[in-house]
Amino acid sequence: MANVLVMAESRAGELRKVALEAVTAARQLAEQSGGGEVHAVLAGGSGIGAKAEALAQHGADKVLVLEHDGFALYNPEALTSTLAGLLKSGTYTYGVFSATSHGRDLSPRVAARLGVGLVPDLTGFAVENGAVVGQHPINNAKVIATLALSGSPTLLSVRPAAFTPAPDARALVTEAITSASEPTASRVKVVELKQGNTDKIDLNDAPVIVAGGRGLKTADNFKLCEDLADAFGNAAVGATRAVTDDGWRPHTDQIGQTGRNVSPDLYIAAGISGAIQHLAGMRTSRTIVAINKDKEAPIFKIADYGIIGDALEVLPALTAAVKAAKAS
Ligand SMILES: Cc1cc2nc3c(=O)[nH]c(=O)nc-3n(C[C@H](O)[C@H](O)[C@H](O)COP(=O)(O)OP(=O)(O)OC[C@H]3O[C@@H](n4cnc5c(N)ncnc54)[C@H](O)[C@@H]3O)c2cc1C
Repeated sequence: MANVLVMAESRAGELRKVALEAVTAARQLAEQSGGGEVHAVLAGGSGIGAKAEALAQHGADKVLVLEHDGFALYNPEALTSTLAGLLKSGTYTYGVFSATSHGRDLSPRVAARLGVGLVPDLTGFAVENGAVVGQHPINNAKVIATLALSGSPTLLSVRPAAFTPAPDARALVTEAITSASEPTASRVKVVELKQGNTDKIDLNDAPVIVAGGRGLKTADNFKLCEDLADAFGNAAVGATRAVTDDGWRPHTDQIGQTGRNVSPDLYIAAGISGAIQHLAGMRTSRTIVAINKDKEAPIFKIADYGIIGDALEVLPALTAAVKAAKAS
C-alpha cells in the first residue's frame, strides 16, 4: 500500500486540466501499489477551496487546501517548504507533479530540499515488484528511456496530456493546511500573471492543436489555423520556431525542444517540415495529421494521416468539413 501526495496546479483561481491528469496518474500509482490514498494539495488565493470537488471526482481521497492571498500567484519558496514538510512526514511513498513550467520549477526544489531524486516528465509508468518503472522521452523523444525509480519518498512528474483525466468519484474530504513558511516573506515573488490570449484555450489544455509552419508563407495566413481551431471549438494554435523567430506568432506558441511539450488527442501540422527539434515537442500526440506540399517532408514519417497539398487550400477545406460535421 502506498499513499500519494499530488500537487494540483491552479492558475488565476481556476484548476488546470493538468491537475486532473496528475490526480489520475497519482490514483493509478496508488492502485498499482496496493491501494493507498491520494491526497491533493490545492494552493491558491481566497476561494480556491471551492475548486476541490473536481479533484475528488477524479480520485483524490483528500484535498489539502492551502488558501492564502500569498498563493494567489505561483509562490515557489512557500510551496517548496510546505510540500517538503508534507512529504517528510512519512505519510507518503510518492510525490507527483505536473511537468509544466511551474512543475519543472517546483519539483526539483522539493527534491533538493528532501535530498531525494526526481524522475521528470514521465509519459507512462507501471509498478513492478514494488518499484515504479517509468517511461521518460529523451534525445528529442526519439528514444524512450525506461527508468526504475527508487528513494523515499519517490518524486516524479508527468508530462501534460500523457494521462487522460479519468472520473473516479470519491466523497469530497478537505483539510485546511497552512504554509510551512510565511508566504509573503518569500524571496522569489511572482508579481503578475500575464496571459497572452485570455479568451483562448492554453496549448497544454487543448485536446486539439492546429500548428502552422513556414509553409503558411505569411503571418496573416495563420488566420486559417485560427479558423480551423475555432471550428473545433476546443483547439489551440501552435507554431514552429521558424515562425516564432520571424515574429509571425508569439514565442509562447512555439512547440518543440526549446518550446512547449504537447500531447493533444489531435495534432494538425500545416506547412511544417518536421525538424527533429519540432518533433521533440509533439511526437507523443495521439493522432497526427500532416499537411505538406512535399511528399518527402519528414513530418509524414510520424504522421498517422498525411495530406499532400497546399495548406492554404487544405485548411479552409478542413474548416468547412468540421463546421459541416458539427452542424449535421
Ligand atoms: C537548438 C535548436 C532548437 C530548436 N528548437 C525548435 C523548437 O523548439 N521548435 C521548432 O519548431 N523548431 C526548433 N528549431 C528549428 C528547427 O530545426 C526547424 O528549423 C524548424 O522547426 C522549421 O520550421 P518549419 O517546419 O516551420 O519550416 P521549414 O523547415 O522551412 O518547413 C516548411 C515546410 O512547409 C512546406 N510547405 C511550403 N509551402 C507549403 C504550402 N503552401 N502548403 C503546405 N506545405 C508547404 C515545405 O515543404 C516545408 O516542409 C530548433 C533548432 C535548433 C538548432
